[in-house]
Amino acid sequence: PPIIVRDFAAALGLKPFKLISELNQQGGFASMNSTIEEAVAIAVAENHNFILEIKHRGEAAEKKVVQEKADPEEEEKRNLESRPPVVCILGHVDHGKTSLLDRIRSANVVSGEAGGITQHIGAYQVEKEGRKITFLDTPGHAAFTKMRARGAHVTDIAVLVVAADDGFMPQTDEALKHAQKAGVSLIVAINKTDVKGANIDQVKTQMQQRNIAAEDWGGETITVPVSALKGEGIDTLLEMILLQADMLELKANPKAEASGIIVESEIDFGRGPMATVIVQRGTLKVGDALVCGTHYARVRAMFDDQGRNIKAAPPSTPVRIIGWSSTPDSGATFRTAKNARDAEDQAETERLRIRQVATRAASAPKEVSVDQLFANIAATQARTLKVILKTDVFGSTEAVRNVLESIKSDKVQLDIIAAEVGLVTKNDVLMASAAKALVIGFNTKLENGVTSMAKHHGVRIESFELIYELGDKVRELMADLLDPDL
Ligand code: GDP
Repeated sequence: PPIIVRDFAAALGLKPFKLISELNQQGGFASMNSTIEEAVAIAVAENHNFILEIKHRGEAAEKKVVQEKADPEEEEKRNLESRPPVVCILGHVDHGKTSLLDRIRSANVVSGEAGGITQHIGAYQVEKEGRKITFLDTPGHAAFTKMRARGAHVTDIAVLVVAADDGFMPQTDEALKHAQKAGVSLIVAINKTDVKGANIDQVKTQMQQRNIAAEDWGGETITVPVSALKGEGIDTLLEMILLQADMLELKANPKAEASGIIVESEIDFGRGPMATVIVQRGTLKVGDALVCGTHYARVRAMFDDQGRNIKAAPPSTPVRIIGWSSTPDSGATFRTAKNARDAEDQAETERLRIRQVATRAASAPKEVSVDQLFANIAATQARTLKVILKTDVFGSTEAVRNVLESIKSDKVQLDIIAAEVGLVTKNDVLMASAAKALVIGFNTKLENGVTSMAKHHGVRIESFELIYELGDKVRELMADLLDPDL
């Protein structure tokens, strides 16, 4: 039988006049009772996410079945399942981050077959009331800032540790700022409540001064007093993390192709390059082909945080992967490729692209204008000078930060995306390249090979020994950003 406009509209769930106008737009003269040619009907159905099946029996088209086509977005929504929260622990040195991580881990390891031996792979999972929580096992916010510099959002919840006898310290504030900028939700753990001189109220006052008042003080920040040493309050902390996770409604599609974030990587003499990843979407399986920037992998084996062999890793699971071509960078994103060949091709394409950018930068005429950074910034009109800061000691970091923050300009923003103590490393260069940032070294040296790598990636490194010189130069660079000729 012929396909009639009226019936067809009903089958598609459309008002007949909408279908008529759609058909007429294609140059027809349709009305309620006109017939539609098969090819046209198929195309119209397609536009509305339907598949038109026309069954031919004998000579005439006998029956038509209109079936809803899988809409990728709808399908994605249908497949969303709740996933464990990914948590990091931040705070001032010696306030108890490591102790807390160790305590949580030893008390609540995911129960599984016996024989697991704790492996420090950069992240671990614990179980509480039958639900899992993933912790980034890298105390200090180095890993966190590195990931954030790459725009990677791996953590859902940051636990800010504040020692009850010490209160907020510079690194506490720094960590707080990072967490707020990254938009992760915050829980404050007031640690060392067992110590003489512990003053929980003082910490809560300091929280109020920072506009993150505790819940029991009329604010919104979940605050848990703990003692990592005595193991007190740990259960409550985990419960609060789960509560927060419920409020965040964390979900991911475990059926999708796997993608996620590299937490850390290293070369093992027996097993070659390995990387710990956290799966963010999909389920990662042994045999999958992965690509991560210029690195690729065929997953030969996966291990959990107790060294156990696992075959599949659903969202939020941290796993160590064997089978990489080389070590991928922490904070970088990986995704699944069609097969090993395809992964290698994609990595090679990325390598060529980077080389091209570097060559183009190197062949540009003037020193100032070789700076890919500035070209990029000018092009995007971002007008933000991003800075990665490396200094000799922590005290310098604060001094430099104060100077940089005093250089106020309403036209150019200054964003210190990472500030650490130590040499300027290759990793800093990679980070700067990814984030289009300037690297500033203060009273520190460059690791071997950094200069050539910086040239290769078009990253600018400025080193200083005197704070006023640093201030002058940054002022100059910020002014350059405003110069349209650059
Ligand atoms: P991190 O630098 O923040 O990782 O701090 P650590 O976990 O290394 O802890 C620093 C010091 O504080 C260590 O000597 C710990 O034993 C001690 N410490 C950590 N938590 C507590 C606690 O709850 N009570 C007491 N009394 N000491 C603690």
